[in-house]
Amino acid sequence: MGYDRKADDGRRESLPAPRPGASVWPRQSCPAFTPRKEHLPIEGSQCWFCRYADFHLKHPVALEVGICYWPDIQIG
Ligand code: SF4
Repeated sequence: MGYDRKADDGRRESLPAPRPGASVWPRQSCPAFTPRKEHLPIEGSQCWFCRYADFHLKHPVALEVGICYWPDIQIG
């Protein structure tokens, strides 16, 4: 993956609810966070690791800003 996580260290933010159809930053999260299988508990809740987010992780270049598709699962 070609994503530099250091670039958005300042954007960690708790959202009050999922944001279906809206942009999400990798380090945002909401109460509906559901981890995909690569997630390690130490990393905490982050949209980057959420099954409902689409960051084009299966494309050659991932997106810096993803889209929340809750409640539709995007990735295992
Ligand atoms: S991608 Fe996941 S954690 Fe992020 S806002 Fe959507 S449901 Fe919540």
